[in-house]
Amino acid sequence: MANPSLLILAGDGIGPEVMAEVKRIIGWMGAKRGIHFDVSEDLVGGAAYDVHGVPLSDATMAKAQAAFAVLLGAVGGPKYDKLDFSVKPERGLLRLRKEMDLFSNLRPAQCFDALADFSSLKRDVVAGLDIVIVRELTSGVYFGEPRGIFKEGNERVGINTQRYTESEIARVAKSAFELARKRGNKVCSMEKANVMESGILWRDVVQEVHDRDYPDVELSHMYADNGAMQLVRWPKQFDVIVTDNLFGDVLSDCAAMLTGSLGMLPSASLGAPMANGRPKALYEPVHGSAPDIAGTGRANPIACILSFAMALRYSFDQGDEATRIEKAVEKVLADGVRTADLMGPQDGTPVTTTQMGDAVLAALDASL
Ligand code: NAD
Repeated sequence: MANPSLLILAGDGIGPEVMAEVKRIIGWMGAKRGIHFDVSEDLVGGAAYDVHGVPLSDATMAKAQAAFAVLLGAVGGPKYDKLDFSVKPERGLLRLRKEMDLFSNLRPAQCFDALADFSSLKRDVVAGLDIVIVRELTSGVYFGEPRGIFKEGNERVGINTQRYTESEIARVAKSAFELARKRGNKVCSMEKANVMESGILWRDVVQEVHDRDYPDVELSHMYADNGAMQLVRWPKQFDVIVTDNLFGDVLSDCAAMLTGSLGMLPSASLGAPMANGRPKALYEPVHGSAPDIAGTGRANPIACILSFAMALRYSFDQGDEATRIEKAVEKVLADGVRTADLMGPQDGTPVTTTQMGDAVLAALDASL
């Protein structure tokens, strides 16, 4: 049988630098674990604009639609800041998300013990934290109509519309319950059913999906404002949080800071199942192209490496190998290996991007 396909879009800035370390790990999986992928590489963002005049060509889009999974580095940079909005690097990423209909955005917030002192919260609140926020990504107030700035009497009025259909809520709820079954089997759904009709519908539909198809998963409901408070009070009470586009945007950034550094945060965006039964999927670090450090060897590759681990788990049915990578990262951090973003000014000499990759590979070797 052919190997599953993996499309790599390294992008701009530190994207190619962190992706280089992931490619070494992909090579390691083939050589040491006999897990092979049909890897192809293409351009996205500014890199694609430089060659094709658009941030994502139709041919690349078609490849992404056909791939088992897409792994993206980062897009953007000052060189492209003055471009027309329609061809800005970020439009390439938005096109991927939109045309692949990636409605379920998974943002894990995992705090490795060795980095607990990096969080702005107390060590015992965050050490060992492992939660995932599932954010609805393709509907809600960012897309609802009517929207715009209108004239009303003597003044202007800004309007956005929070709109969710039952099926949009049901599919993201399902994705959260499926995820919970692979983890701690607990889902907390967050909305504002106390003041929003869309919140009442959200709560009803999540409960219906649960009762019909996932009665084995523990489900609770929480108002999103209380959820924000609980996230910083005692985040370990959660396993999977499912919420809408707007609340998810805010809550996932809040959860991200529990873990310390942007350089550590992976993400997955999943769509409907393909013919092979796996969801359409795009994996990417949460961070951007970090133009301030691009080309200096200071980028932390861990967020991108952990994004590949997510691909192994959710697209390639290789959960054990995903755990192997996560444990290797944990060991490297416990051994005190640090890129600059994980150090204070007095903490000694940081390792480079490549040296961090070396350390993870050595830890993978040691795991055999
Ligand atoms: P950024 O995430 O690129 O950088 C924010 C800060 O975090 C910078 O100081 C950077 O050096 C640091 N940082 C980020 N990733 C790091 C890593 N792996 N290792 C060490 N340090 C890291 O966000 P920004 O500066 O707001 O945006 C820069 C460019 O990236 C912009 O063009 C923006 O549009 C784009 N962007 C792209 C994405 C994406 O591709 N998904 C996401 C956010 C921003």
